[in-house]
Amino acid sequence: MTAELDIDGAAFAANLEAVRARVAPAHHMLVVKDDAYGHGLVETVQRAQAAGVRRYGAFDVRTGAAVRGTLGDDVDVFVWIVGTETEAEEAIAARLEIGVGDAMLLEDVAAAAARCGLPARVHLKVDTGLHRNGVRPEAWDGFVGRAAELQRAGALDVVGVWSHIAEASDAEDDAARAVFDDAVAQARRAGLSPRLRHLAASAAAFARPEFRYDMVRVGAFAYGIRPAGGPSADELGITPIASLRAPVLRVAGDHVIAAVGALDGIPSSLAGVAEVGTPAGPRRLTRIDAHRCRIDAWPGARAGDLVTLFGPGRTGEPSATRLAERIDTIGEEIAVRVSPGVPRRWR
Ligand SMILES: *Cc1c(COP(=O)(O)O)cnc(C)c1O
Repeated sequence: MTAELDIDGAAFAANLEAVRARVAPAHHMLVVKDDAYGHGLVETVQRAQAAGVRRYGAFDVRTGAAVRGTLGDDVDVFVWIVGTETEAEEAIAARLEIGVGDAMLLEDVAAAAARCGLPARVHLKVDTGLHRNGVRPEAWDGFVGRAAELQRAGALDVVGVWSHIAEASDAEDDAARAVFDDAVAQARRAGLSPRLRHLAASAAAFARPEFRYDMVRVGAFAYGIRPAGGPSADELGITPIASLRAPVLRVAGDHVIAAVGALDGIPSSLAGVAEVGTPAGPRRLTRIDAHRCRIDAWPGARAGDLVTLFGPGRTGEPSATRLAERIDTIGEEIAVRVSPGVPRRWR
């Protein structure tokens, strides 16, 4: 008897529809980094494709190639962590679109494209203030000029211009958006015609229409993970899709021992500060060991009863984000920590 991550396919489809409805006519790129935020990459993208999602944000080349291998050629797959020319070649061979945020990588990608005999489809990244890779605005003019040259030579197809923003304060995001608009205008003056401008992740995509442009890159909200300290899932119209469940192994007086612990992905700092869902509603989580935890008992508790560490709240359990708030982190952190040893069961 072990813990399981139980995933609600219908809730996922409903979240995807909520995202689509919210951001239309902008496209939704579903972000699937970190094993689809811990939900299991292959099953996640299969379900998403069945629900009509055509665009995937895969982070690295390995993940992108796995999405391509799983879903076939009928989808667009974007990767934005490409380190070497070899990786660029792998990405081009798998027909991935590549995020390029520095001048040297632009040359590497063009060289790789020449070797593959295929133009590389690229999205040029401008640094709008986050300083997390991206071409600085003062170097942007030269960068887009060079990209246009490489496009004319047949090495590149510049599909998009993009950036990433902090989504922490409206004022900073507005300043980032002004830099972004200038960058797009400069790219056009250089002779490029980027069809996909994208800037927003979940929070800005939902809250701020002017940040949607042609496409938004939404991960967290698609999985029903609301922002820490932000609006509720209900207000956003989304539902957490994953429930981490574990069986009770034994009842010992005033507490029970359940089969999930720190090595399964439960931060041990949650002991004493969190509750879990039980058949009788929420109960205190009092201790976390390697593969076991201790929970206050309820009347009639027995071995085999299920407790829920996080989920949509049906048995009084907290959401992943609620747990995260207890220890000053974010819901994504709780979701991606669930150990690969815990089986994912999609329903
Ligand atoms: C993770 C990530 C996203 C998705 O962010 P969410 O808040 O989960 O929607 C979007 N863009 C980039 C570049 C990312 O790394």
